[in-house]
Amino acid sequence: MRRIIIAGNWKMYKTIDESVELVTLLKRSLVDIEGIEIVVCPPFTSLSDVHEALIGTNIKLGAQDCHWEKEGAFTGEVSCQMLKSAGCEYVIIGHSERRQYFNETNDTVNKKVKAAIKEGLRPIVCVGEKLEERQAGRTFDVVKDHVENSLAGLSKDDMLKTVIAYEPVWAIGTGVVATKEQAQEVHSYIRGLLMKAYGSDVAKETRIQYGGSVKPDNIRELISQEDVDGALVGGASLKADSFTQIVKGCL
Ligand code: PEP
Repeated sequence: MRRIIIAGNWKMYKTIDESVELVTLLKRSLVDIEGIEIVVCPPFTSLSDVHEALIGTNIKLGAQDCHWEKEGAFTGEVSCQMLKSAGCEYVIIGHSERRQYFNETNDTVNKKVKAAIKEGLRPIVCVGEKLEERQAGRTFDVVKDHVENSLAGLSKDDMLKTVIAYEPVWAIGTGVVATKEQAQEVHSYIRGLLMKAYGSDVAKETRIQYGGSVKPDNIRELISQEDVDGALVGGASLKADSFTQIVKGCL
């Protein structure tokens, strides 16, 4: 049975005080939620304080990126070990904004995924096509390339610790959400890829989130799809009300 996972990607928003304020509200509004895994991914600077605020709650902590080396002369980078020591359980890897603005490739994503798992973090690996790729009928090719190469060399056990986020780039931050049929079609395709690579047990257990303009008014129909196991939420995770409604929309 796959447990629904709703994760909030706060991107480059929220100071430390604002972050603690937001999780203080979320702790109250989500206190009764059972059966759904809830994760917040604040910017690096807020991780420790948010971790403190979340101790003993049903909300977990994630980061938005990591480096694959344990330590070294990599100015500005943050290692998985550091994220772990700040209280993270999850880390988003390969978000399209990192692929687009920071030269993230399948190869670097793959190194980060392996480093995260080695350090005991659960990676949330983002895959998804751009608008022009969808229009050119290349959605499945792009998704296959992202899935196969970002996850290359992972064992079955590694895969079971990994969450995949299908995030069509044209839906991120645009207000244009994929239809439930579009989401289901790609999610089921991804599950088929996992089936071929890892067999049916792993394919059935691996969670595939949808991401891209998820809002309180569209979560219900997305989550009703057989292969949609949760959501990676950007804009709507920045307000306690909308994030809470999205989580509750999955009940
Ligand atoms: C995201 O940042 O992963 C995302 C899906 O953003 P939004 O919900 O704002 O489209």
